[in-house]
Amino acid sequence: MNKPCSAPQPSNLGGLVRPNIWSLAPYSSARDEYSGKEAHVFLDANENPYNAPYNRYPDPLQRELKKQVSRIKGVPEDMIFLGNGSDEAIDLPYRIFCEPGRDNVVAIEPTYGMYKVCADINNVEYRPVLLDDHYQMDADRLLKATDSRTKLIWMCSPNNPTGNSLNRDEMLKVVERFGGIVIIDEAYGDFSAQKTMRAELAKHPNLIVLNTFSKAWGLAAIRLGMAFASKEIIQIFNKVKYPYNVNQLTQQQAMEALKDPFEVDKWVKTLLLERNRLMQAFALLPICEQVYPSDANFFLARMTDAQRIYDYLVDRGIIVRNRTRVQLCHNCLRITVGMKGENNELLAALRSA
Ligand SMILES: *Cc1c(COP(=O)(O)O)cnc(C)c1O
Repeated sequence: MNKPCSAPQPSNLGGLVRPNIWSLAPYSSARDEYSGKEAHVFLDANENPYNAPYNRYPDPLQRELKKQVSRIKGVPEDMIFLGNGSDEAIDLPYRIFCEPGRDNVVAIEPTYGMYKVCADINNVEYRPVLLDDHYQMDADRLLKATDSRTKLIWMCSPNNPTGNSLNRDEMLKVVERFGGIVIIDEAYGDFSAQKTMRAELAKHPNLIVLNTFSKAWGLAAIRLGMAFASKEIIQIFNKVKYPYNVNQLTQQQAMEALKDPFEVDKWVKTLLLERNRLMQAFALLPICEQVYPSDANFFLARMTDAQRIYDYLVDRGIIVRNRTRVQLCHNCLRITVGMKGENNELLAALRSA
């Protein structure tokens, strides 16, 4: 049915990708057609010769940046996609695999809200599967929610807003038994001691792992997200994305940060110490009923009255995330770990709440 692509494909990928995407002839930019380094007169892209260095289109495939990401993440360059935040890497699988109004996706619940928003935007049915009382997943329950029209399964570990890592064996079971694409969002992976699922990519051509520069790397403002997957999947991401999806300023800033990964290690260590201190202090607050275990730079706390405490904090200029209307998170606040002084301000306010 689908037209074969010239690149080698895992046996079932052609059956998963939407036919229009499978046969898509992508836009070929000037920088795609000539990407060599030897030329010195560039009259091919209708750029303005003045206002260097920002007059030139950036590398559409971010090759230099991917070299550095490859080194740090231990994944070959042709298995890396870089996008305009994880947001882009979350949206693309819908556009690539899911036929609007026909296909569906399965996801753990509660989790990050963007998976559902992107499903709604793309008119794809979203099937949430509740976690258990410990916010753990069960592979069989997720698989049971799938049918022949299920293209994607979404998991997030450490999970947002619950903070815990999902059971690795259960995640692997889903990857191994599901015939479609499994996406595991490790946005908070740098804060966790659990082994990354990137290590499973070589064995599993249906796995996509997401990372971001927005959390541990402290670069939320530059909007840079990462997806790691088989090179066949990455090739399809590349042909569907906007040609210049990661701008030059972002590429430069990320290159700078990647020169000093030890700075990130220091931030992570400091934030984890602060998180543990905050969690212990929360556990002693009379207005806090339960502090949930966390593998991330935030934690979830069940309060006596989340809405009242949220409003009280807002009045004092302190903003936390009220998750009380999220399933399984009634009366829960999600607390991001800040700097020591900020955390102390939060604790002082809560002690006199
Ligand atoms: C914060 C977060 C991201 C990051 O999104 P960006 O678009 O890269 O800033 C991704 N996934 C989850 C679960 C998050 O909590």
